Amino acid sequence: MADCLFCRIVKKQIPATVVEETDQTLAFRDINPRAPVHVLVIPKDHIPALMDFRPEHAAILMAVHQTIQKVAEKENVAHSGFRVVVNNGKDSGQAVAHVHYHVLGGRGLNWPPG
Ligand code: 5GP
Ligand code: ZN
Repeated sequence: MADCLFCRIVKKQIPATVVEETDQTLAFRDINPRAPVHVLVIPKDHIPALMDFRPEHAAILMAVHQTIQKVAEKENVAHSGFRVVVNNGKDSGQAVAHVHYHVLGGRGLNWPPG
C-alpha cells in the first residue's frame, strides 16, 4: 500500500536496518528500541493486523515464524529467551497498520507487560 510506512520500508523507499530478509518477510530494527534486541518482523504483503489473517495466509504465517527463529539465532537470544509481541488494535497501542511482530530480548523482561 502506497501510504503504508512498513510497505515503504519493504520497497526500500524508507531506510531501515535490515536484520533478515526473505521472499515473504522482512526483519528490521525498531527505530525506538525498548530492549537491547528489538526487531520488527513483518510479512512483505500488506496485512493490516493480526485479525486480518485468513487460512490462505498460512504460508506467510509460517514464513514469519521462521524469520523470527532466524532473528533470534542471529541476535543471540535463541537460548537466553525472548518475547514476541503483536499489538492489535486501539487498546494495544498498535500504531502502524501493517501487521508486525516485535521480537524483544537481551535482558530480563517483566511480566505481565503494562
Ligand atoms: P506498534 O506500536 O504499532 O506495535 O509498533 C510500531 C513500532 O514501529 C514502534 O515500536 C515504533 O518504534 C516502530 N517504528 C515506527 N516508525 C518506524 C520507522 O520509520 N522505522 C522503524 N525501523 N521503526 C519504526
Ligand atoms: Zn503495509
